Amino acid sequence: MTEQPARSFPSRARVVVIGGGVGGTSVAYHLAKAGESDVVLVDRSELTSGSTFHSAGLVGQLRSDPTLTEMNRYSAQLYAELQAGDTPPGWVQCGSIRLASTQERWEEIQRQDGWAASSGLEMQLISAKEAQDLFPLMSTVGVVGACFLPTDGQVDPSGLAYALAAGARAMGVQIHTHTRVLGIDTEGEGLRRRVTRVRTDKGDIECELVVDCGGMFAAEIARMVDVRVPIVPMSHQYVVTEALFAHRETMLPSLRDPDNLVYFRQEVDGLVMGGYERSSAPWTASASSYDAVPADFNGRLLAPDDDRFVEIAENAAIRVPSIADAGIRTFINGPEAFTPDNEFCLGPTDVGGFFVAAGFCAHGIAGAGGIGKVMAEWVLEGAPPMDLWHMDVRRFGASYRSPSYTLARTVENYESYYDIRYPAHERAAGRPLRVSSAYTWHQEHGASFGEKSGWERVNVYETNSRADDEAWRPQGWAGRHWSPAVVAEHQACRSAAAIFDESSFAKIEVSGPDAARLVEWVFDNRVARGAGAVTYTQALNAGGGIEMDVTVTQLDAQVFLVVSGTAFANHDASWLRTQARALDADVRIVDVTGAWACFGLWGPNARDVLAPLTPQDLGNEAFPFMSMRDTTLGDVPVRMVRVTFVGELGWEIYCPSEYGAGLWRSLWDAGQAQGLVAGGYRAIDSLRLEKGYRVWGADVDPGHTPYEAGLGFCVRLDKPGGFLGREALAAQKEAGVAQRLVCLLLDERDEVALGNEPVRIDGAVVGRVTSGGIGYSLGASIAFVYLPVALAEAGLRVEVGIFGRWVGATVTADPLYDPTSSRVRA
Ligand SMILES: Cc1cc2nc3c(=O)[nH]c(=O)nc-3n(C[C@H](O)[C@H](O)[C@H](O)COP(=O)(O)OP(=O)(O)OC[C@H]3O[C@@H](n4cnc5c(N)ncnc54)[C@H](O)[C@@H]3O)c2cc1C
Repeated sequence: MTEQPARSFPSRARVVVIGGGVGGTSVAYHLAKAGESDVVLVDRSELTSGSTFHSAGLVGQLRSDPTLTEMNRYSAQLYAELQAGDTPPGWVQCGSIRLASTQERWEEIQRQDGWAASSGLEMQLISAKEAQDLFPLMSTVGVVGACFLPTDGQVDPSGLAYALAAGARAMGVQIHTHTRVLGIDTEGEGLRRRVTRVRTDKGDIECELVVDCGGMFAAEIARMVDVRVPIVPMSHQYVVTEALFAHRETMLPSLRDPDNLVYFRQEVDGLVMGGYERSSAPWTASASSYDAVPADFNGRLLAPDDDRFVEIAENAAIRVPSIADAGIRTFINGPEAFTPDNEFCLGPTDVGGFFVAAGFCAHGIAGAGGIGKVMAEWVLEGAPPMDLWHMDVRRFGASYRSPSYTLARTVENYESYYDIRYPAHERAAGRPLRVSSAYTWHQEHGASFGEKSGWERVNVYETNSRADDEAWRPQGWAGRHWSPAVVAEHQACRSAAAIFDESSFAKIEVSGPDAARLVEWVFDNRVARGAGAVTYTQALNAGGGIEMDVTVTQLDAQVFLVVSGTAFANHDASWLRTQARALDADVRIVDVTGAWACFGLWGPNARDVLAPLTPQDLGNEAFPFMSMRDTTLGDVPVRMVRVTFVGELGWEIYCPSEYGAGLWRSLWDAGQAQGLVAGGYRAIDSLRLEKGYRVWGADVDPGHTPYEAGLGFCVRLDKPGGFLGREALAAQKEAGVAQRLVCLLLDERDEVALGNEPVRIDGAVVGRVTSGGIGYSLGASIAFVYLPVALAEAGLRVEVGIFGRWVGATVTADPLYDPTSSRVRA
C-alpha cells in the first residue's frame, strides 16, 4: 500500500471521520459514494493499526436480526466488487459451514434456515457426512447435522481497509494518518450543542459533522464531547497453525462449531482456529474505571493467554483431530470493542453532528460494508435506510454510564456468545437494578421477573398457575420459558379485571413555549388539543417510516407527556431532541420515567374496582376514552389516563413513585371483591395480539409507514402546518401501499411463531413474521406479517415455517378481538 502524497493539512471539511480501520474507511468510502466528498479521515497511526489488522477475516452473513443479515449481505457483495477492482481486498467466496453438535443446536439451525429463507439468503441443510465432504479435516463424531451458506467468505481485513480507503480517496476523500484527535469543540448549550471543530496534533479542522469510528478507542473519543459509548475492549484470541494439508485448488469453507465454542478457516495450507472462551478477559476497563487503551497501542497485540485458550484448543482437536499435532505458526491475542448486548453502536448522539460507528463485537469485518452504507445515509439524510434500533447507540440507558454495569453486561454476553438464545431467556448480569415501587409486593406474590433496560418487570406471577392450563403449553422452544400462569392472568383481564405494573414505561416530558409547536410537527396525529387530551400517534421520519409509536397526553398548555415502551426512553427522547434542534424550538425534554409509578388496571370490572376509591366520576361522559384526569385514588394523588394496551375498559394510573407501593396495595385490596388478578407482561402481550395492537421495533418500525402498518387512522394529512413525513405519506396515499401488515391465524394452536419466521404461498416466501403468540381468549396461535397488498386479503391461505415445519395459516381480518372496541369504550 503506498501512502498518499503529502498534502497540506485541511483547515475545514464538512465531515471528519475519526479512525482508519474497516469502520472508518467504509464510512468515508460510502459518504463519498453518496456524493459527499468533502470528507477528511484521520487516524492517530497507520490505517488498520487498531483491531482491524489482527482480525481473522471471516465474513458470515446470517444473523437473527434480518437487518444485520441484509447489511452483511451487502458487505459480501461489496467485497466481491472490490475484488474485481484495482485494490482487491483478498475476498474469497469460500462458503461457510455451521455444525450442530447437539440436538438443541440442530433445532436452532432449522430455525436459522427459516431466517435465511425470509432474508433470501442461500442456505442448505446438510448431513455430517456432507459437511465432512466440504471440510475433509473435520471429524463427524457427535455432529447431528449442519448447514452450508455458499455465499459466505473470507477477506484480508487490512486489504479491505486499504481497498475502501483507496476507493474513498479516488472519490475525493482526504486521508491523514499519524494525525491524533486531541479534542472536539462544540458550541451551544443543551439541545443546541453541536460540533464545530476537531482538534488534532496536526492542526484544527472546522467541520459540521464528526463520525467516531474509533473501534475500541471510540468511547475515549466520545468522552471528548461527554457522550457515553458503552464498549469494553476484550481480549480475543486465535491461532494460525502450521501446514495441515497439501495445496488445494479451492479454498476450504470456514467452519463453526458453536457447541464446542470454536471456528476455523483456511490460511494458506494451515488453519486459523479461534473461539469464544468461557472466561473472558476485559482489557484496561474495570468495574471502577473506563477503558484506557495506551496512547501508543497501535499495530500491537497482547501477550498470548495460553491458560484461557486451553478449552478452545481441546475442543478444536475434537472437531479437527489433526490440529492436536500441528505446530502453531502465530498466536494472536488482540483486543476488540465489545458492547453489552453484542450489537454495534451506530448513529447520532445527543450532541448535534456527532455520530458513532463502533463496537463491532468481533463481527466488524463482516459488517463493515453494510455499516458504511447505512451510516453514510444516516449522516447525510438524518435517518438510516432501515430499522437500526438494535444497533442504535441511543438504545443504552443511563445505567450504561456506569463502568461496572457496562462491564458486567459485556462480560456475560461475551462468555455466552455461542450459547443458544432461547426465546424469553432472561439475562442475569447486573440485576436487579431498577425496580418499581411495588417490587417487594411482586416478590412476595410469586412474581417471575424479566429485565428490560435495567428494569425488573413482572413476566408472570407463578402463583396464578393452574394445573389445567398446562394443556396450553406451546410446542418446542416457545414452550421452554412458558408459564401456565399467563393463561389465568389473560383470562382474568377479559372476564373480571387485572392489574399490571407498568412503571418501567418510558415517560418523556416535553415542556416550554415551543412544546406544542414541536409535538404538532413531530407527530402525525393532532396532539395539542387542550389539557387532558390523550392521543395515540406516531412520529415519522421524512420517508414516512415510524420512528415512535406512543401516546401523548397534554398536561397543560405548554406541557406534554409522551409515553412509550420501556426500552425506548433514550431513543424517543433523542428523536424529540433532534427534531427540536432542527426546529430551533425553545423546549425542555426530560426523561421522567423513574419519577412516576404507572399501573394499568383493565377489565370489565375496572370501573367497579376504582369507583369506590375516587371522587372522580369514571362514567363515559365525565371521563371518556382517550382522556386524562388529575384526581385521587384512596389517599394517593394520581393522574388517570383512559387508554388501554389490552383491549378492555380501564386506566393507566400514574402517581409520584413514592406513593406507588401504597397505591398498588389500595388497588389490590379494592379489587379483591371484583376478581382482580395481578398480571405480568406475558399476559399483556397475548392480550394485545388479540386486539391487534402493534409493538414498535417488531410490527412497526422506521421501514414501514402508518398506512402499511394499519395505523392510517392516526394520520391527519390536513393538519395545519403539516408534520414531519407528511409529504411521503400523502404521496403513498395517492399511489396506494405496496404491502400491508396482516394478521394470521395458525392452524395449530400450540405452534407459535416467535418472530422472523418465513411465510410462504405456493412454495414462494412472501414475508416474515413480525411478532406472534397465543391468544388465550380466542384459543389460537396468532402472528403478524407484512404481505404484498395484492395478497393481503382475508381468507388467503399461507404457510409459516416454524423450526423446519410448514404450518398452515389463514389471513384474518384484524383485530380479532372486539373489532368495534365496544369493550374499550364500555
Ligand atoms: C482476534 C480478533 C479476531 C477477529 N475476527 C473477526 C472475524 O473473523 N470476522 C469479523 O467480522 N470480525 C472479526 N474481528 C473484529 C474486527 O476485526 C473488528 O470489528 C474491526 O476490525 C473493528 O474495526 P474498527 O474500524 O471499528 O476499529 P479499528 O480497526 O480499531 O480502528 C479504529 C482506529 O481508530 C484510530 N483512533 C483511535 N483513537 C484515535 C484518535 N484519538 N485520533 C485518531 N485516530 C484514532 C485507531 O488508530 C484505529 O486505527 C476480530 C477481532 C479480533 C480482535
